[in-house]
Amino acid sequence: MQKNDELILKIEDMGVDGAGIGKADGMTFFVKDAVIGDVVRAKLMKLKKTYGYARLMELLEASPDRVEPKCPYYRQCGGCQIQALSYEKQLEFKERKVRNNLERIGGFSEIPMEPIVGMEEPYHYRNKAQFPVGTDKDGHIVTGFYAGRTHTIIPNRDCALGLPVNREILDLVIDFMEKYHVSAYDEKTGKGLVRHVLIRCGFTSKEKMVCLIINGKSLPHSEKLVEALREIDGMTSISINCNTGRTNVILGRKTIVLWGQEYITDKIGDISYQISPLSFYQVNPVQTEKLYGTALEYAGLTGNETVWDLYCGIGTISLFLAQNAKKVYGVEIVPQAIEDARRNAALNGIENAEFFTGKAEEVLPEQYERNRVYADVIVVDPPRKGCDQVCLDTILKMAPKRVVYVSCDSSTLARDLRYLADGGYQVEKVRCCDMFGQSCHVETVVLMSRKDK
Ligand code: SAH
Repeated sequence: MQKNDELILKIEDMGVDGAGIGKADGMTFFVKDAVIGDVVRAKLMKLKKTYGYARLMELLEASPDRVEPKCPYYRQCGGCQIQALSYEKQLEFKERKVRNNLERIGGFSEIPMEPIVGMEEPYHYRNKAQFPVGTDKDGHIVTGFYAGRTHTIIPNRDCALGLPVNREILDLVIDFMEKYHVSAYDEKTGKGLVRHVLIRCGFTSKEKMVCLIINGKSLPHSEKLVEALREIDGMTSISINCNTGRTNVILGRKTIVLWGQEYITDKIGDISYQISPLSFYQVNPVQTEKLYGTALEYAGLTGNETVWDLYCGIGTISLFLAQNAKKVYGVEIVPQAIEDARRNAALNGIENAEFFTGKAEEVLPEQYERNRVYADVIVVDPPRKGCDQVCLDTILKMAPKRVVYVSCDSSTLARDLRYLADGGYQVEKVRCCDMFGQSCHVETVVLMSRKDK
């Protein structure tokens, strides 16, 4: 077998990144865009000892679970790895992936898994979109998305994960740029003005924000753009953000309001949040409420508890918990996020939440050693790499009754749960929640309790 050979493969499984898996000659092949149940003709692109990567050339037999993807660009884009699989099967795939990791990496068996929480509407769920702006070979301004792993813009103003209003807004921005000869940024030369268009919508408030990220300090004829955008229902915030760096980072530090406020307001459950262009905010607010609702349920609060919320971001979980706890302490490494958390606590009249800036693995041990701080419940929601071991050791020393682990990566989750299990905790409940339909990502909430309590 060698590169460029063609194979007929029956797809029997899917890998963690959503690629179809088929076997031939004792080897395993990963075929992007093929789904379980397909029979495909695929061309060998890369060959390793026991496995290889092959490109989907022809669908010989379509899986019964295959659906027509909504987006005509899904194969080029790569943002939605499993759009061709029915949503029901997407959920099964995600649940299986988490269970496998807990078994294989965590060494758990008889895992108490509750049914995965799926979305009612697995499209148009994102409240935020960032569209790159460029110029095509005929000199027209284009916007869309980067073709998988490159920075070539494929024109598309209708991402199926975003809201229909994105298109209306982009049409106005591009018309404005064409009419007033406002240039698009060119990554290769570092010249040109408009780099990205950031759009955010409050799902409950219906407020809308448009921010143009520009390679400069001002936007010529901006009053004309404002005039057009103001007509959009719910428009609340129009701004520019200055980013003159030759970098892939989208936003710069400075935002200048052109019209309205710097922020929009939105609600998750009963809590309101002010969101500015630079703020972190969950992109799927409908599922976020269910995810944090699960965390709250698992925390089992009666109103008398002291709770630590580690990796708290802008305090979304902390403020949720604070409604039912005596005291909540949040810890987060990004200072601006902590500023947002404090502001959001004040905005909601929440007085029993306190926030620390710093690394969880430094703040928690320090507070424990120095002040003997106590916890009934500890909630963690770390980034993909999971918790630092020092953080887990401190949790074990503090010995809370319950640990609630919210995870976006089930392999590090499994590793950390094993560590806590070896330290005296047991897994009580596991519930997956789908925040990112059409992609292979999944969030998981786990409740652990101390065996001796
Ligand atoms: N629960 C939050 C988001 C959690 S995302 C919310 O819903 O808003 C993970 C967070 O962990 C990010 O905000 C990231 O900045 C923070 N983080 C990353 N490493 C950290 C560390 N070592 N200590 C504390 N926070 C960290």
